[in-house]
Amino acid sequence: MSDLIWHPFTPLKDAPVPLKVIHGKGAEITLENGKVLIDAISSWWVNIHGHAHPLISKAILDQSLKIEHVIFAGFTHEPAELLARNLTSLLPKSLNRVFFSDNGSTAVEVALKMAVQYYYNLGEKRSAFIAFEGAYHGDTFGAMATASRSVFSEPFDSMLFETHFVPYPETWLGDATVEAREQQIISRIESIFVESPDTFAGVIIEPLVQGAGGMRMCRPVFLQRLEKLCKEHGILLIFDEVMTGFGRTGDYFACLKAESTPDIMCLSKGITGGFLPLAVTVTSEKIQDVFKSDDNRHTFWHGHSYTANPLGCAAANASFEILTSQQKFRKLEIMQAEYESMLLDWEGIEKVRRCGTILAFDLKTESETGYFNSIASDLKRLFPEMGVLLRPLGNVIYVMPPYCITEVQLEKVYTAIKMALSHTQR
Ligand SMILES: *Cc1c(COP(=O)(O)O)cnc(C)c1O
Repeated sequence: MSDLIWHPFTPLKDAPVPLKVIHGKGAEITLENGKVLIDAISSWWVNIHGHAHPLISKAILDQSLKIEHVIFAGFTHEPAELLARNLTSLLPKSLNRVFFSDNGSTAVEVALKMAVQYYYNLGEKRSAFIAFEGAYHGDTFGAMATASRSVFSEPFDSMLFETHFVPYPETWLGDATVEAREQQIISRIESIFVESPDTFAGVIIEPLVQGAGGMRMCRPVFLQRLEKLCKEHGILLIFDEVMTGFGRTGDYFACLKAESTPDIMCLSKGITGGFLPLAVTVTSEKIQDVFKSDDNRHTFWHGHSYTANPLGCAAANASFEILTSQQKFRKLEIMQAEYESMLLDWEGIEKVRRCGTILAFDLKTESETGYFNSIASDLKRLFPEMGVLLRPLGNVIYVMPPYCITEVQLEKVYTAIKMALSHTQR
């Protein structure tokens, strides 16, 4: 272990020694000590086609021999143009303007800034947002401001701009109350809009699945109603699809699956299949038009050194090709659906839920305190010993593997979960 490195999302005191990975293939990664782990979480949700995929690797090599980087203001290149064509060919028709950046948090920052400046350019001062309890949008300031306040954000809370939080209408198999809760939330948002007109620039939501908040899932109909409400009140709707994009939900994008179209959409994570950092914020020509002006102040003055890096775009185009030609996520969805019905018979778990390729459930716990924390850390230790990479979110266990995972590998994952549960439930 290197003391030189400060690892992300890791309490420094008593941190377990990080596992050193030397290579990967398909859904497996191999550690320095020779142990092989099945990657059941797509390595922080990015690796959709399996590790070290040769087609993506080759696309990066080929591109690097042509042009590895070029300033993206005043210049353009084929990999970026092709990627914009690829993405917009699948997205709803109105989402046809692609702004590049290089990570999910930044894709969200760009969306928030676009929304605020959209109204600014129209001569309105709107700077507040509506967001959802349990949301996670990234670790930069705007992303933190629109995400649930927690121990993660606490040192910075006084610096975060005004955001109104409403509950996320999470649902699960056998949930009988969701419709009433959806109705309450829609009414609540409506009354906020009515009480404070001209205050809100946008509503931001993780459509269909809240990721880091515990794989909490909502119904398509809620997003459709939210879209309608935002339209009626002239407030921009932002879909943070950083996690849900590229096949995760059983369709290419959650907006397609939910048949609901936002004004602005954020994509990252799966975009390059886990090879290189890249992100996009996609919006409509109608919104972009408000930035076309002789007035300098109406320009979107935002960009990053690695904006639309050609190697990242080449990786994304190769990943897109694999995604659309093979559509392996459809097969994984069917396999996950089988485990979903099996999980209903398991003891000690509740709130079984699935969206496309993501299957999740809660561990029943006596309390949310010490006991529960010890289960979580027990599990984090047990899973690698059993040969799987899983990272429970609190008392939530979720399985979200690369689409290429085999039936045998997936079986091993669920066997490990079942064994681990029997260990912790004694
Ligand atoms: C991971 C994530 C982000 C942040 O993306 P980074 O690339 O880690 O900055 C934003 N929104 C959602 C929904 C995410 O899952």
